[in-house]
Amino acid sequence: MSWSYRVARIADIDIKVHITFGIILLLGGLDWGSRYGTSGAVFGVVLMTALFACVVLHELGHSLVAKHYGIPVREIVLLPIGGVAMLGRLPEKPRQELLIAAAGPAVNVVLAGILLLITGAIGGLTALDGHGLIGGSAPAPSLHTFLVWLLAANVTLVVFNLIPAFPLDGGRMLRALLAMGTDYAKATRIAAVIGQAFALVLGIIGVLGGHFILALIAVFIFLGAGMESFQAQAKTVLMTLQVGHAYNKHALSLIPADRVSKVVDYILTSYQPDFAVVLGDRLLGIVTRDDVLRALATHPEDPYITEIMQRQVTRVDATASLEEVQRVMMESGERVVAVYAGESFLGLVSREDLNEALSVLMFVKRQQQLGAQNA
Ligand code: ZN
Repeated sequence: MSWSYRVARIADIDIKVHITFGIILLLGGLDWGSRYGTSGAVFGVVLMTALFACVVLHELGHSLVAKHYGIPVREIVLLPIGGVAMLGRLPEKPRQELLIAAAGPAVNVVLAGILLLITGAIGGLTALDGHGLIGGSAPAPSLHTFLVWLLAANVTLVVFNLIPAFPLDGGRMLRALLAMGTDYAKATRIAAVIGQAFALVLGIIGVLGGHFILALIAVFIFLGAGMESFQAQAKTVLMTLQVGHAYNKHALSLIPADRVSKVVDYILTSYQPDFAVVLGDRLLGIVTRDDVLRALATHPEDPYITEIMQRQVTRVDATASLEEVQRVMMESGERVVAVYAGESFLGLVSREDLNEALSVLMFVKRQQQLGAQNA
């Protein structure tokens, strides 16, 4: 993800902060600063930083359990809406998904327990009457306010994440539990419907009660549930086809002696966006439409394509499923990969090709389901 900056590395996982995360620090500083001046502003910033430390620990909970099951974790990215742990692939067994999903909220339960012990010890139980919550009559900055606020935040994180709706942890736990009794795609569909029902109820409560934030969260959950259902179906569909059968065998390719003007001709007449530069059955590099546009802007003298081509191209084997290819693209961040049979280059496959294959396969599957229902 671009616009993210690495701030730490824990257990071989990069902890990155998205640039928009600064908004949260700013809001915290402004909120507390408006009431308690400069020291309040500092307090607000420290408070938000501590909140996001709790979010990082939550994501580390997911990540460490995932790594325990051999699933690579590339990075944890902090966004203003929370954290995301980038798992290299989905867990295979429902039990694994259940434990990975549960590990995040479990961390916040532990944190809340520790904070409860500390605040109970230094402030008595009166401290827990909810005054630490965001907004309202928040008490003046102090170590005690800090700890009580964090306690309330961790409780909120647990409750919110356990809502049984995608993309929240509760939705994943529900899917995993369902998947123990039925197949993955069906479990996802059922979990998605339950999640959307939940979102509708939340939305109605939000609108009727005038809770704007709650209504927004409901919309976010409703869309997330539909997306997850689609992704689960896509995953099963993409697993059925090998990339060796899906790449374009009739794609136009280039040789090192070609110039940029030739690619421009090809682009205008064929609508093909990516071109392999080959010598026999050897791939030398690729040239994309973006490379050509950039070359036209910066090289007025019609250079050889070898001057503008990308030489580093990620390889996939022809026997890999489209689902594996999609995963390679996600992990490497590449839009185009090269398909090989052993050492010989066959052709290129792009993210758009995968999307197109997906829409065709989904259509075919739908027709088959309709056929089965009519039969
Ligand atoms: Zn989580």
